[in-house]
Amino acid sequence: MKYTVTYSCGHTADVQVFGSHTEREKKAAYLQKSLCPDCYRKSQDQARESSGFYEIVTMAYREYKDQYADCKTVSESYNSDTKTIDVSVLNVNKIADKYFNRYAELVDTLNANPNNQTAFSQFKKLDAELHDVTGYNLKSIEELKTELHNRFINR
Ligand SMILES: [Zn+2]
Repeated sequence: MKYTVTYSCGHTADVQVFGSHTEREKKAAYLQKSLCPDCYRKSQDQARESSGFYEIVTMAYREYKDQYADCKTVSESYNSDTKTIDVSVLNVNKIADKYFNRYAELVDTLNANPNNQTAFSQFKKLDAELHDVTGYNLKSIEELKTELHNRFINR
């Protein structure tokens, strides 16, 4: 069923909502408290940019196309003489520095007591936060996992 939703940012959209009448009403009420998809994306981008986890790297345009095509570039940074471009790249070490200890602590707690619901929900929350911060750069998420794994094993 289609609902015309006015999001918290003021934008409106026709949204297909499924489920029973109660479920649809709930979903529509939830959407009205949320940002529209565009504004949500923008706020995520801003959060990422201000997270301090990204750094601008000047790289060969070809390297960008081959390995970092999902990363943001600095507008008009392409240099046709050197064939380089400035790319906003996730700094995996910075992320590992911030998250590793909290991850390790929770993993220890959960290893000691797998039924610790508090630790489990904290772990889920941390995972979601990590996903929010790293977002669209999937390659770096893989790098991050490897980095976390290596540090965890080698500690
Ligand atoms: Zn909006």
